[in-house]
Amino acid sequence: MDCLFCKIIAGEIPSTKVYEDDEILAFRDIAPQAPAHILVIPKEHIGGVDELTEENSFVVAHIFAKIAEIARKEGLADGYRVVSNVGEHGCQSVRHLHFHILGGKQLNGSMV
Ligand code: AMP
Repeated sequence: MDCLFCKIIAGEIPSTKVYEDDEILAFRDIAPQAPAHILVIPKEHIGGVDELTEENSFVVAHIFAKIAEIARKEGLADGYRVVSNVGEHGCQSVRHLHFHILGGKQLNGSMV
């Protein structure tokens, strides 16, 4: 499958890893939009939030538990934002489920 993030998981494309286990990978965004900008992805290929089901969504609970851990380790005690863009209107550019962790500065209050 021609998926950029599957290639990162396979080690075919380099990444700066922040956390990894059997189910998920976290790595630094190549074009950071905040001082801390980390992507957290499942190793199983799921296209986006719109492909989550009762069968595959268990990994999202694991991702969010690790997001809290990662944010603590990154020193984001003052807060941060977790974002998942979905599809064309959501400006999703990589069709592999991912959650952005954005922080390290005061973020804009506007969501769009
Ligand atoms: P989205 O636009 O929500 O689909 O987010 C995709 C994110 O992947 C963007 O923030 C990109 O900067 C990031 N990205 C694209 N290629 C790479 C890469 N090779 N390594 C790390 N992050 C990447």
